[in-house]
Amino acid sequence: MKICVLPGDGIGPEITREAVRVLQALVPQAEVEEALLGGIAVDTTGSPYPDATRALARAADAVLLGAVGGPKWDNLPREQRPERGLLGIRQDLGLFANLRPAILYKELANASSLKPELVAGLDILIVRELTGDIYFGQPRGVEMRDGQRFGFNTMHYNEGEIRRIGRVAFEAARKRGKRLCSVDKMNVLETTQLWRDVMNELAPEYPDVTLSHMLVDNCAMQLVREPRQFDVIVTGNLFGDILSDEAAMLTGSIGMLPSASLDERNKGLFEPSHGSAPDIAGKNVANPLATILSVAMMLRYTFNLETEAARIEAAVQKVLAQGLRTADIAEGGTRTIGTTEMGDAVLAAL
Ligand code: NAD
Repeated sequence: MKICVLPGDGIGPEITREAVRVLQALVPQAEVEEALLGGIAVDTTGSPYPDATRALARAADAVLLGAVGGPKWDNLPREQRPERGLLGIRQDLGLFANLRPAILYKELANASSLKPELVAGLDILIVRELTGDIYFGQPRGVEMRDGQRFGFNTMHYNEGEIRRIGRVAFEAARKRGKRLCSVDKMNVLETTQLWRDVMNELAPEYPDVTLSHMLVDNCAMQLVREPRQFDVIVTGNLFGDILSDEAAMLTGSIGMLPSASLDERNKGLFEPSHGSAPDIAGKNVANPLATILSVAMMLRYTFNLETEAARIEAAVQKVLAQGLRTADIAEGGTRTIGTTEMGDAVLAAL
């Protein structure tokens, strides 16, 4: 088990340290090697995704990432920005499927901005296509046309790209509540009409899964109106970017949410859903649980170690039940602890 660890920027090093401790306690045979990605990589090598990182990431079975970015690098030329490192590694490793669970632990039901009775027990999985769509489409740019600046981007998907993300989503739904909702904007965008057609063509291969469709604007509303109607949602890169953040916020804490990005052979990059939180970096207050839960996803999806994955999730649940919280999820009657103490608590619960 070769695991490439990319701590990145901001709180990245603090939270990945705790996640690696949990990983090594549970799976001592895991070989862990660190490399640079993001702003720290720009500072050290001039590139947000240096060759040495590329080589290590390609050779690894899985990658664990903290987060990248921060105000220090916001004014660099676009190709040197930390986010380029993230897009670069996703593309380089062919990570086309992003899995983001939005789970609301009952101990944290009050953290949601929605009424607890609407969200208690929430368990949604958003499957987002990650390597296509308007984020990568050519042509793109800003140029002078008719004497004024003109900006343009191109949305496109071919049916093969839609089919492979569709299969990931159907398979995921099969392992859960067996309901899949495909989200598009077929009333306006031809690309997403093709998306809907291909999803319908796949459906007969998965007779045990119920497929439904929803327009993206309606989905954005339904997620705050009645979020528990969803089991698995599958959508393209642009819509998925927005809807997965919306679903994350239903749970009240971005510090709790892991994510997985997989290639066609389930090699993956695992990372928390949040960013590098520069406002709290280096203060030992960041919540490491999203990164620790990302290790659980790694064990489940890449290494097929379901028992170990479930043990980590149970340990996190136990720590919450003990009333231990980092500052971002603290409330009356709980005890606020720091990043390393939270790591200690999870290890003790394991
Ligand atoms: P953010 O997720 O970093 O922070 C948003 C808010 O949530 C902040 O108040 C932060 O303190 C808090 N927060 C986030 N994670 C937390 C944790 N684990 N524990 C406690 N509190 C936490 O989003 P942002 O402020 O929009 O972005 C900051 C930087 O992160 C930017 O440079 C952005 O580009 C980058 N970013 C990186 C990724 C990634 O690496 N995948 C994703 C999103 C944003």
